Amino acid sequence: MDLPALEDLGDLAGKNVLVRTDFNAPIESGTIIDDFRIRAALPTLQYLVESGANVTACSHLGRPAGVPNEKYTMAPIRKRLHELLPAVTLLENLRFNEGETSNDQKFVNELISGQDAYVNDAFGASHRSHASIVGPPQALPSAAGRLLHKEVKILSTLRDSPRRPFIAILGGSKVSDKIGVIEALLKIVDELIIGGGMCFTFLKAKGHEVGSSLLEEDYVDYCSELLESGAPIRLPYDITAMNSDGEIGHPNSGGVVRQVGVDIQQGWMGLDIGPGTAAEFGDRIDGARTILWNGPMGVFEDDRFAAGTKHVALCMAENNAAFTVVGGGDSAAATKKFGLENQMDHVSTGGGASLELIEKGDLPGLIALREAR
Ligand code: AMP
Repeated sequence: MDLPALEDLGDLAGKNVLVRTDFNAPIESGTIIDDFRIRAALPTLQYLVESGANVTACSHLGRPAGVPNEKYTMAPIRKRLHELLPAVTLLENLRFNEGETSNDQKFVNELISGQDAYVNDAFGASHRSHASIVGPPQALPSAAGRLLHKEVKILSTLRDSPRRPFIAILGGSKVSDKIGVIEALLKIVDELIIGGGMCFTFLKAKGHEVGSSLLEEDYVDYCSELLESGAPIRLPYDITAMNSDGEIGHPNSGGVVRQVGVDIQQGWMGLDIGPGTAAEFGDRIDGARTILWNGPMGVFEDDRFAAGTKHVALCMAENNAAFTVVGGGDSAAATKKFGLENQMDHVSTGGGASLELIEKGDLPGLIALREAR
């Protein structure tokens, strides 16, 4: 995909450059848990600073719903950025102004006021038609930053010319969120492996009992049709389940956790793929040459249900012959939890954006850059 690059902005000495970054980092009690997204923007910010530009970065953080909210202040991010690259100014949370998500022209004008050029390096927000993403390119010379270029290049290669066999592993909670991407992936992968909460709607569609596991009744017919069409979908054949005495996230609250088959009794909830399934998914990963993973195989935040997700991550990390891509969001968080992020070829900074790019082949933020002034 042909996106304008930083070099296309020409001589930037003394120029004011606005950079949209994705600094939506996890913060707990004012402390940054993971600065991955901040570090990911450094190559672009460094290039601009070294070119002599006056650099102003801007980002959203959380969902403060259009009004200032101390809980979502950029102050901790600003502090970390200042340690890494002191020359960059960081604006307050874009979503403190409702004009950001509604793409209000007045807010765009405020953002670009006094700026000579615009750079989008916020891959994780480029699937949104928000003011800071699609507004500035209509008025300023604009370019894609290094991170945006890298993300788009890697994900476009998966879409257009993957090494085969190419498998995708999808998990997470809902089928309904991922229909578009399931259909897009089925056109390009050799096999689609499904785990996580979304597998129960597929298992129900195959006639299994799912107990009180996550189920989207409205999508059972859809899943039946997909399975009957002969789509190369692989599902779990065993499950780690907990009975109704237990509580997710509270291992000390009691409850029985055990391995079951794919017919889950009433009162039991499937919360991870079972060990047999994890081993089988691992074998499929070993045999693949391109692997895309998005969505945990279970409730990995609770150690009792993390084994399936960990095994998938570990098998990907150990497959040196394959090109391994973790599609952001919870799978990126899990990869980091298990300390495997440096053994993957690419860990995307954008969960929703990476899926949408694979699904649609383009994003509003990329279109805006290609149509820039
Ligand atoms: P999503 O936001 O749709 O990608 O889903 C991610 C969430 O799905 C994670 O927080 C997981 O804890 C959750 N999840 C994964 N497997 C299950 C499951 N079997 N039952 C309930 N939630 C699950």
